[in-house]
Amino acid sequence: MARHQKTFTVGWLYPDLMNIYGDRGNILTLLKRAEWRDFEARLIELGRGTTKRMDEVDVFFFGGGQDREQALVYEDLLEHKQPPLERAVAAGAGVLAVCGGYQLLGHYYQTGEGERFPGIGLIDVRTEAGTRRFIGDVVVDSALVDIRPTTLVGFENHSGRTYLGPKAKALGRVRVGFGNNGDDHTEGCLQGGVLGTYLHGSLLPKNPHLADHLIRSSLRRRGITDLAALDDTAELAAHEKILARSAR
Ligand code: GLN
Repeated sequence: MARHQKTFTVGWLYPDLMNIYGDRGNILTLLKRAEWRDFEARLIELGRGTTKRMDEVDVFFFGGGQDREQALVYEDLLEHKQPPLERAVAAGAGVLAVCGGYQLLGHYYQTGEGERFPGIGLIDVRTEAGTRRFIGDVVVDSALVDIRPTTLVGFENHSGRTYLGPKAKALGRVRVGFGNNGDDHTEGCLQGGVLGTYLHGSLLPKNPHLADHLIRSSLRRRGITDLAALDDTAELAAHEKILARSAR
């Protein structure tokens, strides 16, 4: 396989501002799982301002942030990141967006004080904060058909209530926790190559099957469809521990 094909690149949106509740663990998991398969794993940090490197990215990560950090990034997202991100996703790149990042990829996020931050509308969702924060373990029965186990586990801490429009599909149904809005039993969003979720934790270290889903999906455009199996004993033991703890 040509050398350039054995690269895997993660683009981290706003690493200095949108990175709470251990979200950095998602970056480490994506890079390590590519490296363990002999890919040259690369990280491009995409802070505020213009960049010409977004077309190099296979999977973008957009982490969580409190209202204050979301207020600091949404204008840059609209002005400098929206056009190249839309192009990259149209060309087959993947996106994992968690909580605050998830909210800003939708049509808007409105805070509990009524301040509305426009999103980029990459996914058909809208979010308005409620008075009560949703905090705790989450177990989701995933709608993704290519992952085993079919469950996803994590931790949520958000005031936003996200509702899906007709173009968006739920990542899964909530078995434990609140998920998108604590009302319709959905969690997260799947639309095109974008995966949005409220699951912090961080998410991917305890859900290696989801990490591989993201890696595999983003490499498909380069004709890479199979990933060598890895020993996920430790990761899946952590997954099972959350399942057991949540079942009590
Ligand atoms: N500020 C947003 C909310 O409270 C997102 C929080 C987060 O990213 N954990 O819903």
